[in-house]
Amino acid sequence: MNILVINAGSSSLKYQLIFMETESILAKGLCERIGSDGSNIEQKAKGKLYRKELPLRDHVDAFNALIAALTDAEYGVLTDLSSIGAVGHRVVHGGEAFSGSVRIDGAVMRALRDNIPLAPLHNPANITGIEACMAVMPNTPMIAVFDTAFHQTMPRRAYLYGLPYELYERLKIRRYGFHGTSHRYVSQRAAHLIGKPVEQLKLITCHMGNGSSITAVDGGKSVDTSMGLTPLEGVIMGTRSGDADPAIVQMLCNADGISVDDALSIFNKKSGLLGLTGGKYSDWRDVKQGAQSGEEEAVRAAEVFAYRVKKYIGAYIAAMNGVDAIIFTAGIGENDAYARSLILSGLEWLGIELDADRNQTREEAFIQADSSRVKLLVVPTNEELAIARDTLELV
Ligand code: AMP
Repeated sequence: MNILVINAGSSSLKYQLIFMETESILAKGLCERIGSDGSNIEQKAKGKLYRKELPLRDHVDAFNALIAALTDAEYGVLTDLSSIGAVGHRVVHGGEAFSGSVRIDGAVMRALRDNIPLAPLHNPANITGIEACMAVMPNTPMIAVFDTAFHQTMPRRAYLYGLPYELYERLKIRRYGFHGTSHRYVSQRAAHLIGKPVEQLKLITCHMGNGSSITAVDGGKSVDTSMGLTPLEGVIMGTRSGDADPAIVQMLCNADGISVDDALSIFNKKSGLLGLTGGKYSDWRDVKQGAQSGEEEAVRAAEVFAYRVKKYIGAYIAAMNGVDAIIFTAGIGENDAYARSLILSGLEWLGIELDADRNQTREEAFIQADSSRVKLLVVPTNEELAIARDTLELV
């Protein structure tokens, strides 16, 4: 069966068409600038690049463009729409309503709308994407796969904030966590590589990309994760602050006469690596290059980033009363030996020892020293494949 995986943003739409018998990617594409000038579609399939500038007024236009690209006589891979067996949609926030992937129906759409206050930027785009896809492919089964679902197993002690309990009851203010599809995929893959059932393992998964989150996975279940109500909480990221005292918001508003929204925009868009380098770099590759050539701003940002991740690793070892393996994934986690060595140095007391040579990898590998009690792994994530597998299972 061919499964189409959709990741819809407010002005973009990423897709992959996966042939499930071999789990191979038949086509991969991106519609950009939906609803504004210069909109376009780009697709890679059969080793060829298809690129077209065309007006994409909305997501329905984008889906029609994507279908045209997939069925194009020269660049496409399908003869017609009927060879797409099902569609898997990435949805950012499932709130407390979803602890796994689900087949989309009227009740699911209502629950997605109910969750908009929890993710006002992401969920409306995901809903628009699903509706547009349904308009273009009304007879194809659709599945929703949530970023938050894997973390619904967190115990109360991990998901509650120390706020009035009434705020949780009335507004559902609690910690949800994100990147769940990735944490689930790499924890299962790591268990396979270790050769033990995931139910018997205590794992810490470090998804470190532009957005980063760390998760404690005990017996295959998420028991704590660093992101919270929104993806702002946790470790520092490309442009997000991670954990910070909420009183800073009040201080900024008073000192600079700005609104709460403006203050939060500083936390989300001007902080993290970008903020710590004084506005120079949000991309880890630039931070690393700067740090290695002794640029003070970059050294400072790399230091804070690695220290925050290290603290979460320590906290999650305490939360699970041990750890069998620590897994690194996503843009930084998969590709960067320097980041991994900064994070893991100084944890020898906990039985964590990195092997410098084995660490020089960008592929799936064990990277611990022979004497290390804790296994250390690089496992490239594949959220699209995880979404496609869930979709196949549910149809
Ligand atoms: P992601 O959000 O998973 O796409 O990850 C983006 C982050 O990964 C950015 O900070 C990139 O600088 C970083 N990244 C991507 N490729 C590399 C690489 N080869 N070495 C170091 N960092 C990388």
